[in-house]
Amino acid sequence: MGLISFLKCSVVVPLCFFVMGCTTIYNPATGKQESLFLSTETEVSMGQDLNKSLVQEYTFSTNTKKVSRLKDIGCRLSAVSDRQDYGYHFYLVEKEDLNAFTTPGGFVYVYTGLFDKLKTDDAIAAVVAHELGHCAARHIAKKFQASLTYNIIGAIVFSQVDAQARALAAQSADVAMNLVFTAFSRKDEYQADSLGIKYLFLAGYNLDGMIEAFELLQKEAKGDQMPLWLRTHPYIEDRIKRVKDEIVLAPSRYGQGQTKSLTP
Ligand SMILES: [Zn+2]
Repeated sequence: MGLISFLKCSVVVPLCFFVMGCTTIYNPATGKQESLFLSTETEVSMGQDLNKSLVQEYTFSTNTKKVSRLKDIGCRLSAVSDRQDYGYHFYLVEKEDLNAFTTPGGFVYVYTGLFDKLKTDDAIAAVVAHELGHCAARHIAKKFQASLTYNIIGAIVFSQVDAQARALAAQSADVAMNLVFTAFSRKDEYQADSLGIKYLFLAGYNLDGMIEAFELLQKEAKGDQMPLWLRTHPYIEDRIKRVKDEIVLAPSRYGQGQTKSLTP
């Protein structure tokens, strides 16, 4: 196991709500009112505990140049994300697969197998922006919420949040990791693509980076060798078509300070 490359954005945003029980918030990423019982604090606590498991299981890159590149891209994008109630962390994992994933609490992981094949910062940014879209739309939190048993939900809602979240994450690291790799719905993928384009635009990246990333994945997808990122992110031809439409519309949607939320 190499040294852990622990990346944390220099700007740490204070947690803005510590909520026990179910709460309803307006989510600017989705433009909707959403009911949540996993508080931000709980999400972050779960992400931290999952990260401890991942540190044991994976080798994190110690290549300073690559790690800094990912961190810089991640921080530039997270600064314009709709979700600012937690800090973001970006890790480069030494693994051959073409993959990237996100755990609760703003922890984003990109594999070197994908990172090294993406030729431009714009394409790397596209992958990260898509993952940040899942964070902002709370797809990850919702996936975890949906998997919890009534007993655990009860523990979270009626007991001390931090202690229960830690117990939950510690007891079910394997279950939680399986959940991380469980496919999102098609609707969630489209929404993450759409939000990804928004964040790429607002952060000043070339939006064609999203097409570059998709085309790389499409090219590498061969039968059983289908990249994991694609297996959990299906319908790529349809997604490319939609993203091309989003790119055309982005300046009018997000330009000149307009940040109108999109629905997929
Ligand atoms: Zn996705």
